Parts: sequence; structure tokens; C-alpha cells
Amino acid sequence: MSRVWPSLILRAKVVDASDEIISGILHNFSLVAIQDLAERPLPPGGLWDPTFPPIPDPPPTPLHWHVCFNDAGERDRAAAAIHDLLPDLAIERADMPDEDWAARSQRSLSAVRAGRFIIAPPWDLPADDVDATVIVIEPSMGFGTGHHATTRMCLRLLSEIDVSDLAVLDLGTGSGVLSMAAALSGARSVIGLDVDQDAIDSAESSARLNTLPDTITFKVGDFRTDPPPPADVVLANLTGGMLIAATHAIVSLVRPGGQLVLSGFDQSELTGVLHAFEAFVERLHLVEDRWAAVLLLPRT
Ligand code: SAH
Repeated sequence: MSRVWPSLILRAKVVDASDEIISGILHNFSLVAIQDLAERPLPPGGLWDPTFPPIPDPPPTPLHWHVCFNDAGERDRAAAAIHDLLPDLAIERADMPDEDWAARSQRSLSAVRAGRFIIAPPWDLPADDVDATVIVIEPSMGFGTGHHATTRMCLRLLSEIDVSDLAVLDLGTGSGVLSMAAALSGARSVIGLDVDQDAIDSAESSARLNTLPDTITFKVGDFRTDPPPPADVVLANLTGGMLIAATHAIVSLVRPGGQLVLSGFDQSELTGVLHAFEAFVERLHLVEDRWAAVLLLPRT
């Protein structure tokens, strides 16, 4: 059986401050992802019009978000908290099958390349001599099957880092994909942490499909209240709201001179995320399907 993501579709009637209010409320909840569904009209003159410098931002549109949770109870509590503060906001509950998330049926899922990694379902393993690190994942194994842009971008950014002999932390490990990628790349130690027991169970099942070094450990826990030891490379594919609200907790998990890979946010949130992590400088950022990811180095 594939997993279903309890989610909320939130829609405001007019442009207002509901995004900030909702972000503030959602910080208290464990989310899997927020996707911005709003259609943004092009700025006057289209995206590129040399006669119109500077190109203004497109006009703002009313909030239209899809927020995915790990469990229905958490989703319902978040819905009630949002309704209390924003009674006019349209709140629709949805149970989104994993297939929708991946926008294709599970059986048709095939191997996906991202940077120097290939994420492959057991029925589409690449040839032994393929020039890539192969991570086998059953697509029913929760978030992180390589069919989400943020997972792929994290793997592409991880491909830019030489993790050999480094300690790696994966905050919100989901299917365990980023932890396994780091372990297979020769990291000295890898901890994959997730607040959701189901995610850790799925990460452990995924780990059994791979031949992994014994440097990898999965643990249930919330990194904000139950912090693991600091590491040289911290991967956090969470949400923009959580990255910003938990900046201090995340930064304190990065050893001096360490690097950060952040994703899980919309490209419109990139500036806010970079601002929150101002102790670091951007080495690289990627955008795919309007999702963003960034590789940060300490500011010297
Ligand atoms: N790292 C995977 C999964 C990302 S989904 C990938 O890149 O594909 C985000 C995960 O973060 C979810 O599994 C969710 O349960 C977990 N999560 C959310 N808040 C958390 C917190 N405060 N501490 C630990 N895990 C958290």
C-alpha cells in the first residue's frame, strides 16, 4: 500500500498577511512540505523586456497553499489553529496519495538521476557498471523517492561536497535517501533523524535494500528539542517556515567550518531563508518546479 499524506489546501480570497500568520502557526507543527499553488501572472512586458528596466515583481496573488503533514491528527490540530486566527480563510482537508505527490503511478516510477546519484526502485536497477552511486528505494517508503524536486536538488548539492571522513546530519530524513547518499559517499558518520516513527521505519527498510557501511544510524527525534551531536555537513530538507523558525537550532548543529544544504521551500522564500542564515554565504542555489535548494558555507 502506498502512503497517503494528510494535507490542507489553504486559500485566501484577497492578498493579505495570511501567509505570515499561517507560517507563524505552522512553526508549531511538524510538516512534510508546503507547496505554493498560486498562479503568478507575468510582470508587464513578460519576464524579459529590455525596454522596461528594471523588471518589476509580478503583482502579489492571494495565498493558495498545499500543506502536507505526517499524520491526520497533526493536520487537524493545525487546521483548527489556523481557523481560530483566520476564520475567513478557505481550509480544505485532503488525503493525498503518494502517487499524486509523485504525479505518476508507483509502478511506473523509474530510476532518477540527481548529481552523482541514481535513486532506483527495486524493479529498475541500473547496470552494475553505471557511473553513479545507486540508492535503492521502494517508492512506497515515504517522502524521498527522488520524485520530488527538493530531494533531487539536495542530492545534486550533496554531489558538490566531498563528505569523505566528515560527520553528516540529515534533519528530517524521511525515506533516508540523503543519509544513504552521504554514507555511500564515504562519510565518517551519518545520523538521519526524523520526528516521525513511520519515516524512521521506512528509512530502516530502505537501508536493508542497500549495501551500506555501518556508519549510518537512523533515530526518531525532533532536532529542536532533542539535538544530535553537531556535524560537518548538515542536510535539512524541511520547510521554509521551519528553517527560519529553527535557524538557531540548525546553526548550532553545524561544526565550525561546516556546510549546510537547505531545501523544502519555495523559490519566493529563498531570500528569507538566506537572510535567516546570514552567518553563512551561498555557494550555490538551485530551483526546480519553483522549489529551491541552497548550499551554504560559513562566512569568513
Ligand atoms: N530528507 C528527505 C525527506 C524530506 S521530508 C528528502 O530529502 O527527501 C521532511 C521530513 O522532515 C519529514 O519526514 C518530516 O517528518 C521531518 N520533520 C519535520 N519536522 C521535523 C523536526 N522538527 N525534527 C525532525 N524531523 C522533522
